[in-house]
Amino acid sequence: MDSQPIVIIGGGPAGIMAAERAADLKAPAVILLERNASLARKLGLTGKGRCNLTNEAPVEEFCRRFGTNGLFLRNAFSRFFSEDLMAFFEDRGLKLKKERQGRIFPSTDSSASITSILFSELKKLSVDVRLGRHVRKVKLDGGTKTVVFDDASSLECRLLIIATGGASYPQTGSTGDGFVWARELGHTVVPLKAGLVPLETREGFVKDLKGLTLKNISLIFTQGSRKLQTPVGELLFTHFGISGPLVLDHSVSVVDWLQNGHVGILLDLKPGLSPGELDKKLQSELRAAANADVGNYLRGLLPGRMTGVVAAQAGVDPVKKCHQVTLQERRRLSAALKGFSFTVHRARPMDEAMVTSGGVSLKEINPKTMESRIVPGLFFCGEVLDLAASSGGYNLQAAFSTGFVAGESAALNAKY
Ligand SMILES: Cc1cc2nc3c(=O)[nH]c(=O)nc-3n(C[C@H](O)[C@H](O)[C@H](O)COP(=O)(O)OP(=O)(O)OC[C@H]3O[C@@H](n4cnc5c(N)ncnc54)[C@H](O)[C@@H]3O)c2cc1C
Repeated sequence: MDSQPIVIIGGGPAGIMAAERAADLKAPAVILLERNASLARKLGLTGKGRCNLTNEAPVEEFCRRFGTNGLFLRNAFSRFFSEDLMAFFEDRGLKLKKERQGRIFPSTDSSASITSILFSELKKLSVDVRLGRHVRKVKLDGGTKTVVFDDASSLECRLLIIATGGASYPQTGSTGDGFVWARELGHTVVPLKAGLVPLETREGFVKDLKGLTLKNISLIFTQGSRKLQTPVGELLFTHFGISGPLVLDHSVSVVDWLQNGHVGILLDLKPGLSPGELDKKLQSELRAAANADVGNYLRGLLPGRMTGVVAAQAGVDPVKKCHQVTLQERRRLSAALKGFSFTVHRARPMDEAMVTSGGVSLKEINPKTMESRIVPGLFFCGEVLDLAASSGGYNLQAAFSTGFVAGESAALNAKY
């Protein structure tokens, strides 16, 4: 039996799960290296501190959420999927609950309940957790990998798992080091882009709407002949533009389009009504409201803070009486309600993205083992891989699933 340890760099969900699986399979020694003074900082922030752990969606939907790279995950999901992850926590006494769109959260509404179980499991399995160990470099000499720390000390191993995460939210410790080492070790790194990122708009009116959440709306992103229609969902105005689930989930495509110039947005404030139905509704309601101001009437249709900008876009004076609204004005009001338009001119920086899209090319990784096809004994798992999904618990599940497989493969490898 090989007496060399399995070394894992990165104490996020992927690295922790890899360590736990390897230790559970009685790997000779498992060392988990983390640069921070504590493990899993990003995991602590997930789901606004509540941790959207996974999703109850079927495996096909999970794969779809990762776009063309989703198929890569099929093997990992067949080894360790959402029901396994949920059972992992439930068997250790944590109740989970389901929220909208199948999102799974701890019933405590606290990511600390997730991390505390992971930490006590590491202890129980005697994983050698080394905190404050910032890896600077990974060197290769034949089958031996040398991990070099910032104080110039080093650690040798034959089996190395890189689980350093993406390059977003760098204050959590994920600064993209794994991408640099992967390149140096001969891997291709698919160019990094911000995924799940808020968008900046050109128009200044958003500042006045800062903090306003619009529920049950839909968006159409446009650029030239390209159109991307979202389902109905939630949007949040910020001081720079727009955020919220609907925006974040479609931001990967918008970031792509932005390379060719600005992206138009049509905000449908009444997605439940067709343009004809909305116009009829306006016609009868404006007639009934007769002597009320248009602004007052709109307040019954929209959040108060939206009424001024909608009336302005329609070119209708909000203090005008409803019965004075002309046919043209009514049509413009309908059009502004079904397609309130503004422009995205850039995405917020990578630092503010919830995930990093791009990463270590999946073509060079064996999906059954997470082992490099280029460097035997080297494994990758989690967000360092070219994997990014929309929100809903999909990204954490992928980190745990690929971590599980990497830990298992390394442990089986260690025994031969
Ligand atoms: C604000 C926010 C909210 C999110 N909410 C959700 C959610 O609710 N559900 C969901 O599914 N996903 C969510 N995500 C995405 C999810 O958190 C990540 O996809 C997931 O954490 C990736 O796990 P990982 O283990 O691959 O990487 P990370 O969690 O990034 O962990 C990598 C670890 O490696 C360490 N490391 C990096 N470089 C070095 C080095 N040189 N030496 C030593 N250690 C190093 C880092 O310090 C870090 O601890 C959210 C992300 C953010 C930013």
